[in-house]
Amino acid sequence: MALIVQKFGGTSVGTVERIENVAQRIKKFRDRGDDIVVVVSAMSGETNRLVALAQSIDDKPNAREYDVLLSTGEQVTIALLSMALNKLGVPARSYTGTQVHILTDSAHNKARILDIEEKNMRSNLNEGKVIVVAGFQGVDEEGNITTLGRGGSDTTAVALAAALKADECQIYTDVDGVYTTDPRVVPEARRLDKITFEEMLEMASLGSKVLQIRAVEFAGKYNVPLRVLSSFDEPNFDSDDHTNNGTLITYEEDEMEQALISGIAFNRDEAKLTILGVPDKPGVAYSILGPIGDSNVEIDMIIQNISADGTTDFTFTVHRNDLEEAQRVLTQVANDLGAREVKGDDKIVKISLVGVGMRSHAGIASKMFKSLAEEGINIIMIATSEIKISVVVDEKYLELGVRTLHSAFGLEEK
Ligand code: ASP
Ligand code: MG
Repeated sequence: MALIVQKFGGTSVGTVERIENVAQRIKKFRDRGDDIVVVVSAMSGETNRLVALAQSIDDKPNAREYDVLLSTGEQVTIALLSMALNKLGVPARSYTGTQVHILTDSAHNKARILDIEEKNMRSNLNEGKVIVVAGFQGVDEEGNITTLGRGGSDTTAVALAAALKADECQIYTDVDGVYTTDPRVVPEARRLDKITFEEMLEMASLGSKVLQIRAVEFAGKYNVPLRVLSSFDEPNFDSDDHTNNGTLITYEEDEMEQALISGIAFNRDEAKLTILGVPDKPGVAYSILGPIGDSNVEIDMIIQNISADGTTDFTFTVHRNDLEEAQRVLTQVANDLGAREVKGDDKIVKISLVGVGMRSHAGIASKMFKSLAEEGINIIMIATSEIKISVVVDEKYLELGVRTLHSAFGLEEK
């Protein structure tokens, strides 16, 4: 018997029939004696519908009222799911974020959870009730409804699991786990049984959108074991963990089978900017990147060439949507600095190898570069961290590059 937080996303509760299926699944866990806290999203498409309604009145709607509106989607689901559970003879109680008391700051539309009151939940659990909590929403100190940002129900689930010290937080979604890479690019991609929080963060921030990044950060910080699994597969109670499917995201264990590389992430939303012929003297990096930062453009990779004849070149990457703005700012900077030229390029992508195994193994970078070279793929930029090596390449090489690396590092289905 365990205390499990189960989160069901929009697709999993997209129709009344699916909500009834979710209730059946919860009953199976209850029947084995598990205590269950459920977190649900709005029915699929509902939050988008509410966003569109607001936007039809005002394209920058009042932030407080926007949260009052958006939070209604989840309220529908908690009520319907609790009805379905009660009908099956499983006592259940629904709670909005305000009722369960998920205290957040007052940053409407992107609030952060500060505290969760667990007293009421504990007494309900002791009475054998299933608790059904609305995801994505909370309440600030003044009693205003807040929301946590799109995809925020994942964070609600992890935060509840942390507050209740649950044995596991299960995120049910429409995919059955985290894959070595996007199966649409590499059909041989394999589902991972386990991955560390750190690796998952790298995969998520590089575009594998299985989980909200904040939820993974939260889980890592509070050591909440997270499992991603499909709400369309039957639970399997025969294995010694709670289910035998999905991907468990957890901390690094010594005995954890140390794959060299866990996955290959990629990002199509990259663009790069180069400023040529800037004087090589103290303060130049700051005078280039300071104004970019001030205009709220996020910078990713940065390269400065060694200088020839007292001048140097500076290249960095930004989100593709920010290219135009960054180029405008940089042209101004180039004028001020007396630089020669500014170039922008949005036909690039980033491909990254991710794996904690990199820490203890040398030669991974050279193997990566050799595999790409053999396919004639030119590397434009390189960046490394302890558990990641990223390269920027021409966008036409995205698929080839990912496939090449996936097989070079033996990640395919065995
Ligand atoms: N319903 C919200 C959204 O669509 C929150 C969530 O599903 O996690 O973003
Ligand atoms: Mg979601």
